[in-house]
Amino acid sequence: MQLRFVGCGDAFGSGGRFNTCFHVTGAHFNLLIDCGASSLPALKQLGIACNDVDLILITHFHGDHFAGLPFLLLDAQFSRRTRPLVIAGPAGIAARLTQVMEALFEHSSTTPRKFELSVIELVPEETTRFGEVSVTPFAVVHGNSGGPFLGYRIEAEGKIVAYTADTEWTDRLIPLGRDADLFIAEAYTFDKPVKNHLSLAALEAHLGEIRPKRLVLTHMSEDMLRRAATLPHAAAHDGMMIDL
Ligand SMILES: [Zn+2]
Ligand SMILES: [Zn+2]
Repeated sequence: MQLRFVGCGDAFGSGGRFNTCFHVTGAHFNLLIDCGASSLPALKQLGIACNDVDLILITHFHGDHFAGLPFLLLDAQFSRRTRPLVIAGPAGIAARLTQVMEALFEHSSTTPRKFELSVIELVPEETTRFGEVSVTPFAVVHGNSGGPFLGYRIEAEGKIVAYTADTEWTDRLIPLGRDADLFIAEAYTFDKPVKNHLSLAALEAHLGEIRPKRLVLTHMSEDMLRRAATLPHAAAHDGMMIDL
């Protein structure tokens, strides 16, 4: 299994980074985690074949995690995609997807497609299988708008990848990330508490309970990016590839 950080930026383009999108592939699966507004050009810059992606997991409905879908779907249509696509995410995702598609490309939500598109709601702490991939969402805490909010624990090929999504500290991050082979955690600030987001200090206070085998920080503010080279943890960068 491989994971590529297609985009690991925040909503403000901090550090010139692309919005959140991770590409996860194995022998028999090909999925994205999140699809922020800039994800289609970011995927193409890395030479990733978007029409080979079978599953897109969405954590929440903020533009830097979700607003790339209309571009991806439009590209799929114009490039004559035939492979079925599943988009899965928090409750209400079908209506949210229609809204964002209509806002960005009028009538695009009703244009006939040559491929089958399934939009699936995931329930926190209920595992759903997509072929050889098991996905368990956990409810995380990220404010009052743009939710519900899900972090993911994903199991495939005997390995576990966990992603906090955008969240302030919640104890649900412990079962989400426990003993994960790769734990991708938001670290928006160094130690300054910010409502709805995770600071590195808050994360570090619980790393002993989570015990990830490998930790990579993502979704960093300008201040965190300035410190990235001196941090005691790995920090993501766009294009970073991780072999599991
Ligand atoms: Zn975000
Ligand atoms: Zn967010």
